[in-house]
Parts: sequence; C-alpha cells; structure tokens
Amino acid sequence: MLGTGVRMAQGRMVSRLDAEEPAWAAALPGYRPCTEAEHAGFPVAFWMSTPLIDMPRYLRYLRDRFESAGGRVELGTVRDLEEPDAPIVVDCAGLGARELAGDTQLRPVRGQHVMLENPGLTDFFVEGGGGTEWTSFFPHAERVVLGGVAGVDDWHTEPDPEQTEQILKRCIDIEPRLAGARLLGVEVGLRPGRPSIRVESQRRGDRLVVHNYGHGSVGIAMSWGCATEAADLCDRGRIGVDDLG
Ligand SMILES: Cc1cc2nc3c(=O)[nH]c(=O)nc-3n(C[C@H](O)[C@H](O)[C@H](O)COP(=O)(O)OP(=O)(O)OC[C@H]3O[C@@H](n4cnc5c(N)ncnc54)[C@H](O)[C@@H]3O)c2cc1C
Repeated sequence: MLGTGVRMAQGRMVSRLDAEEPAWAAALPGYRPCTEAEHAGFPVAFWMSTPLIDMPRYLRYLRDRFESAGGRVELGTVRDLEEPDAPIVVDCAGLGARELAGDTQLRPVRGQHVMLENPGLTDFFVEGGGGTEWTSFFPHAERVVLGGVAGVDDWHTEPDPEQTEQILKRCIDIEPRLAGARLLGVEVGLRPGRPSIRVESQRRGDRLVVHNYGHGSVGIAMSWGCATEAADLCDRGRIGVDDLG
C-alpha cells in the first residue's frame, strides 16, 4: 500500500437483477465462480480482485504529492469562473459546476455510508446492477465502509437513521461478523450525476477554462483518465491549438 491508501483486494461481486454472469466477468483479475454458499442468495456471484481505496488516506497522499511538486492549496469559494487570476482555470467543482458553469444537466445522487470498526474482514462485497439500494462493504485497515443507496435529486446531507438501519441489516445478513462492530460514524455524499462526463475546454476572453466534472458514481475510477485528458486540453490551450478538436 506504501501510504497511498490503495491495495489490491479480493472480494465478491453479486447481482440480483441479472440472471446470468456477464460475459466480461471471467476476464477480471482473480476471477473464480462462487460456491453455492458464497452466492448468499444472489443469482449472479463471483470472486474478483481490484484496487480498493481508503479514501481519506488516498486524498492525503494526493495532496502531499501535489504539494511536493510545488502546488499550493487555498481554500475558498469561487463565485465565477472568470474570478481566478489565471490564464488557465480547471473547473473540477463536481456538483458545484451546476452554478459555476450554469450546467443544469448536473443532478445530485445522494449516497450514505455507515462506518464500523473492522472486526477482521479483508474481502470486500459489492452488489452491482443498478437500482437505488444495494449491499456493499469495503474493509480497510481500521474500519469497514458499508453501503449503499442512490437518491436522485435528493439534496439532503443529513444522515437518514432509517437508511442506516437498513444498510446495517443488509450487510449483517451477508457478513454476520459485522453485527456488534462499533459504529464509527455515518457519512452522506452527493454524487455529481450527469448524463455524461464533461471534459471540455472553452475560451472565455483571453482565458482558457477546462471543465472536468459530472462523474456521478465513478469519479474515482475515472479520475486518472479524465485528469490526463484535462491536462492535455490545458497543454493544447497553452500552445494555442485548443481549436483543433
Ligand atoms: C457514497 C458514495 C460512494 C461512492 N463510491 C464510489 C466508488 O466506489 N467509486 C468511484 O469511482 N466513485 C465513487 N463515488 C463517486 C465519487 O466520489 C465522485 O464521482 C467524485 O468524488 C467526483 O469528484 P469531483 O472532484 O469531480 O467532485 P467532488 O468530489 O464533489 O469535489 C468537488 C469539489 O469542488 C468544491 N466546489 C464546488 N463548487 C465550488 C466553488 N464554487 N468554489 C470552490 N470550490 C467548489 C466542492 O466543495 C468539492 O470539494 C462515490 C460517491 C458517493 C457519494
């Protein structure tokens, strides 16, 4: 892990909505079919390996890396994309781009996580296939992160106690070792939902604005790819070829 907060983890991916295992499943690293007991009642269930990220650690790592490269973080609210005194402005405001870029296609998709002390789990569990409620738990060194819910157009950032109970119940039904684990907290986040991700440059007077937002529920998975594309748009703008498409 080396302080990045990222480790390769194995876990089960399941679905109640699909009747058959997706064709791509067998190509995943660490793929193997689940035994009947491991299916836990889901029609589709298989093992796989994937990078698992402990987000607070990972964000600290990214910030250190940014500052070691000479970057500086200043906290504040930007009211207008023309406000920063810079030739290139990169708009990574997530849901805030609704106001900042006037993008009404952005919608909040509310999520809620329940954090428990880790009773010794190493494998993750995630239910895929869409829907507004599902079962997932992701073990990190000291804690396990339990989900999940998706509330489209729900702006509430307070934890919903009923959802906390339902998330706990669903996860404990799958992993009884979670019962009795100490509750560390409940967190709510608003995913920046949009029909498609926007990575695009725009000339505003003599300044270049590069938009990079609208990643919905996959912003971490997409982050390096989108950042590379946004950086490329900055470079093209800097040398004056941003109108080449
Ligand atoms: C419960 C939950 C689970 C998730 N699970 C996953 C997952 O498993 N995998 C995955 O890939 N993704 C996941 N996501 C999605 C992921 O967190 C987002 O896609 C990602 O955080 C989007 O990153 P972003 O930097 O574009 O926006 P954000 O993380 O929303 O950051 C935008 C930042 O801009 C700031 N800002 C906004 N407006 C202004 C302004 N006017 N001035 C100054 N600052 C401003 C905000 O305060 C914020 O700090 C999950 C999200 C939630 C809520």
